[in-house]
Amino acid sequence: MVRRNKISPVMPVYNRAPVTMARGEGVYLIDDNGKRYLDFAAGIAVNSLGHCHPHLVDALSAQARVLWHCSNLYQTAGLARLAERLVEHSFADTVFFTNSGAEAVECGIKIVRKHHAAKGKPRPRIITIEGSFHGRTLACISAGKSTRATEGYGPLLDGFDQVAFGDLAAMRAAIGPDTGGILLETVQGEGGVREHSTDYLRGVRTLANEHGLLLFLDEVQCGFGRTGTLFSYEPHGITPDICALAKGIGSGFPLGACLATEHAASAMTTGTHGGTYGGNPLATAVGNAVLDIVLEDGFMQRVVQSGALLKSELQHAAQDFPDLIEEVRGLGLMLGIRMKVPSQEVVNQLREGGLLTVATTADNVIRLLPPLIIDKTHVLEAVTILRQICRNMV
Ligand SMILES: *Cc1c(COP(=O)(O)O)cnc(C)c1O
Repeated sequence: MVRRNKISPVMPVYNRAPVTMARGEGVYLIDDNGKRYLDFAAGIAVNSLGHCHPHLVDALSAQARVLWHCSNLYQTAGLARLAERLVEHSFADTVFFTNSGAEAVECGIKIVRKHHAAKGKPRPRIITIEGSFHGRTLACISAGKSTRATEGYGPLLDGFDQVAFGDLAAMRAAIGPDTGGILLETVQGEGGVREHSTDYLRGVRTLANEHGLLLFLDEVQCGFGRTGTLFSYEPHGITPDICALAKGIGSGFPLGACLATEHAASAMTTGTHGGTYGGNPLATAVGNAVLDIVLEDGFMQRVVQSGALLKSELQHAAQDFPDLIEEVRGLGLMLGIRMKVPSQEVVNQLREGGLLTVATTADNVIRLLPPLIIDKTHVLEAVTILRQICRNMV
């Protein structure tokens, strides 16, 4: 067949690496030439249990033989069970399931607006943080405000006021009579693996309480065990009113969730929100299977241990290659290496050396987001490859 057009059949919005991935095995990806890669990108923090985990494969194939989809017109046991388990293990009283992170964030934005509107006093504005990333729908890019994501897509959705990272005074000053909520990532992912401090997060919670605002955490990347606790708010001693989850919750199956308290979601009644696929039987079968493993005794402790080992090994490498590495950031298995040389170039070299990582658009950072099931040998293998590439670069 003759192709008349220059544009590729796959819309060229991604600059894909010149590698065709053929299959996955635990924490490794294997390309079509049989080359093995240690996967510390994990599909951008998605494959929390690695590739083709037997428990997930069993759950998905068993469900595939029974029921794929019946819509939200009916009840299904997996949906009810997953919602109950998320409620049991979080701050939340209720859950809306989605297929992606952006949809989970959209749902949270709607909950904030509906909450105040239903009280008879609309307060549609939401404060967001500079450098944040919340997904690619129009509402989500309007919230994130990055030039790259928004250019040419106007008019954007009104109602998002952005303040500087970590600046509580700026947040206080940005609160007006129309402000209804605060949306932030506990640890910014695309923004360069930037953590908020406990003091800041507690300050934000207090401000929200004082002004009757809903605190909405976007844990799409930093949640679900990635930072060493099931939810990334846990170690800070605060709870949100709303929380968006996706990525790790399905370990590669498209699944997201918007969690909320009863108070926040009191106006989310029949007909006020929806989606055809969200929480379908395949997705919830996988979601329940992921939870089975993540909730096992000792799972989270192992994430903390692997994360601590990886971070200290990276810090040693940073000391040995001061001309290449600026600093090591992050916690748990959400780590970033801020480079002094272009991070994308290092990511490409690491890939050729057999280690997959992800560059961030902001701050020249390489992200290490391995499956949560890695052990010490994987940490050491990754650091060996990193050191080799660094030696080649100096
Ligand atoms: C990836 C991401 C999203 C968007 O998730 P999609 O599944 O790509 O829509 C939203 N927020 C954060 C923090 C993310 O990392």
